[in-house]
Amino acid sequence: RGLGAKVWDINDNTYIDFGSGISVNNLGHIDNELLEALTEQSVKLWHTTNLYLNEPSIRLAEELVNTTFADRVFFCNSGAEANEAAIKIARKFSSINNSNKNKREIITFEGSFHGRTLTTISATAQPKYQKGFEPLTEGFRYCPFNDFEKAEKMIGPQTCAVLIEPIQGEGGVNPVESNFLNHLRKLCDQHQTLLIFDEIQCGMGRTGKLFGYQWENHSESESQKEKSHKENKNMFNFIESDLMPDILTMAKALGGGLPLGAMLCSEKVANSFKPGDHGTTFGGNPIVTAVALASLKKINTPELMLQVQKKGKYIRKKLDLLNDELNMFETIRGRGLMLGAVLSKAWKGKAPKIADFSQEYGVLVLTAGSDVLRLLPPLNISYEELEIGLNRIGKALNKLHEVELSSSKH
Ligand code: PLP
Repeated sequence: RGLGAKVWDINDNTYIDFGSGISVNNLGHIDNELLEALTEQSVKLWHTTNLYLNEPSIRLAEELVNTTFADRVFFCNSGAEANEAAIKIARKFSSINNSNKNKREIITFEGSFHGRTLTTISATAQPKYQKGFEPLTEGFRYCPFNDFEKAEKMIGPQTCAVLIEPIQGEGGVNPVESNFLNHLRKLCDQHQTLLIFDEIQCGMGRTGKLFGYQWENHSESESQKEKSHKENKNMFNFIESDLMPDILTMAKALGGGLPLGAMLCSEKVANSFKPGDHGTTFGGNPIVTAVALASLKKINTPELMLQVQKKGKYIRKKLDLLNDELNMFETIRGRGLMLGAVLSKAWKGKAPKIADFSQEYGVLVLTAGSDVLRLLPPLNISYEELEIGLNRIGKALNKLHEVELSSSKH
């Protein structure tokens, strides 16, 4: 069972959850307001298919449209499906709006992760997810992440879309460099190419803004930012940043713990899908969308977003202190409560071991590859729980130190 930032196993051992079910339980386990939304909807209507409109899905779509750049929303059940929808609509848009029959290529980035279906592993520029499943879907080309020059060379008249995670999650918690997204926007505009942000892991407040890409274009100092947070309730919305994608995909935390994906897009993009072009049986399920609306409203507040930023800094400080003692991390990267501790050379490959030891000491942590320890605690975790969890991680790191030291002696 779980409650808030804690889970209990079958033997009633308690764990602090620093993984949130891979960035799904952003409000922890069984949040009261989410439970209320679930209970209320559970006695009204469970399923309709998208042959009919249902009230909770319309309310959620309205909230997403009002909060973001998007004019239209398509609901599905997972991140991979949201990206499939994005890829399909980008190709359809291109086929309708361009006489150039070769404008079909989609650029994605090395280290990315976009899902496990055949097309989304083809979009995922990491061979380990593709090996053995060939032939892959055609038409994807991979650009090195954060490489301004390569991006300029690769994006051209043949490019139908550019798909990018503003912070790569599975690829090692890699944030985009400052101005890289603006650079892509410019190149996309130059070549009439659609820009797609995959915010499946880094969205829904994970980084201290509703979406990870909203960190672009912020040149203010930290103290200026905190001041304007207090003065301007819209600080976290798109209004202050002029960067916008054409399509954005969400899943994971969107459903507040239930399966939900969404593809958000502008009207001009949405119009390229005609009835019958795309669909899903479960997408926009009334129970899931009722919970998602409660979750979105609770997460998208300046107060909580500021807390996420502060708690992220708190974790970094604590990890730095641990590192002064143990010297195991090369760097700590990420934003808000999406953090990756990159292991230094001597400790490379040991992230899964650290995760195992952490679990033994009562804290659940994630890895991103075998060299990065990934921390994604619930956004509303208390400082007390953070402190306990970080102390337990400290114990796990110390244990690895001891184990490795004694094995090197033998
Ligand atoms: N995109 C990103 C950035 C992800 O992190 C993930 C899952 O980890 C996906 C897509 C795929 O989502 P799902 O597992 O819900 O299909």
